[in-house]
Amino acid sequence: MAKMTVNPNYCKGCGLCIAACPKKIIKFSAKINAKGYHYAEVEDQASCIACKMCYQTCPDVAITIEK
Ligand code: SF4
Ligand code: SF4
Repeated sequence: MAKMTVNPNYCKGCGLCIAACPKKIIKFSAKINAKGYHYAEVEDQASCIACKMCYQTCPDVAITIEK
């Protein structure tokens, strides 16, 4: 199973990964990070296909994909 994780401390809440995910499984967390941004997180990890679209889109390299 693939696993996508966002490092909350690097995320600036731009939402580019949310728009880029073909499975539409990324959303903003209700929680905020140290900079005051609602960071992105995966809500349905089991549906991640490890396509890396989110990883390639993130301008802040906040995303890690594991297979
Ligand atoms: S790797 Fe692909 S399917 Fe998984 S969260 Fe990122 S964009 Fe979505
Ligand atoms: S693209 Fe990167 S910085 Fe923007 S919301 Fe997603 S994880 Fe955060």
